[in-house]
Amino acid sequence: MGDQTLAGESNASGMHPDQATSRRMPVVCERFDDLGANGAPARLGIMGGTFDPVHIGHLACAEQVREAYGLDAVVFIPAGNPVFKRDRDITPASDRLAMCRLATESNPAFDVSSLEIERGGDTYTVDTLRELRAHYPDNVELVFITGADAVAKIFRWHESEAVAGLARFVAVTRPGYPLDDEMRATFEESPFTVEFLEITGLSVSSSDLRRRVSEGKSIRYLTMSRVRDYVCEHGLYRKEH
Ligand code: ATP
Ligand code: MG
Repeated sequence: MGDQTLAGESNASGMHPDQATSRRMPVVCERFDDLGANGAPARLGIMGGTFDPVHIGHLACAEQVREAYGLDAVVFIPAGNPVFKRDRDITPASDRLAMCRLATESNPAFDVSSLEIERGGDTYTVDTLRELRAHYPDNVELVFITGADAVAKIFRWHESEAVAGLARFVAVTRPGYPLDDEMRATFEESPFTVEFLEITGLSVSSSDLRRRVSEGKSIRYLTMSRVRDYVCEHGLYRKEH
């Protein structure tokens, strides 16, 4: 496990800062880095996405999967450089990460990880799952959460067979994207373990929020008010992209 403290960093007592607070620096995330350390079975939900910006659709999805599958935690992992979104300019990772933190901090079961952003280069879920699998003990089950639109593309993911072996998948319903029997059947003959969950439909998307801001329209209630304030203070999405 990596020690992320910079060489030479110490406090007045001469102790390593981690020792001083008897706390390890986070490797994956702030709150749940030690999940499973006591040996008891645990389940970690993983919410991947661009989160440009994060909105109530993401939050409600994560919360409903957490509840339905008894997840101990859900970690939001903003993509560094998403390969499926090369056709438009993505907001800087630091802003997307900050907005995820603001959106999730009031839920004690939620956390955010900068793992994909720090890795740099193109973002591949297989690398993320490998890192998580290496970090957490075997008693931690990894549950990757996707919406109906994202799960439909799962076979096109980089090293998809390897991805299938690293986590269990939960695909949630999303208004406007079919999750019908035909679509579900495509997973039966595949190496993926995918379960489907009907959630309360919210047809909100980051694209819609970006467009609304660029048109000078309100995004109130479509995301957490702290995220809305951040968008406003940092002048994000004013130009359509
Ligand atoms: P964009 O419009 O930029 O594609 P988005 O709203 O689809 O943004 P993403 O960051 O692309 O958000 O999605 C991250 C994950 O959240 C994906 O698995 C996606 O399917 C899921 N998701 C996003 N919005 C919803 C929603 N309203 N209901 C259910 N799942 C959602
Ligand atoms: Mg999307």
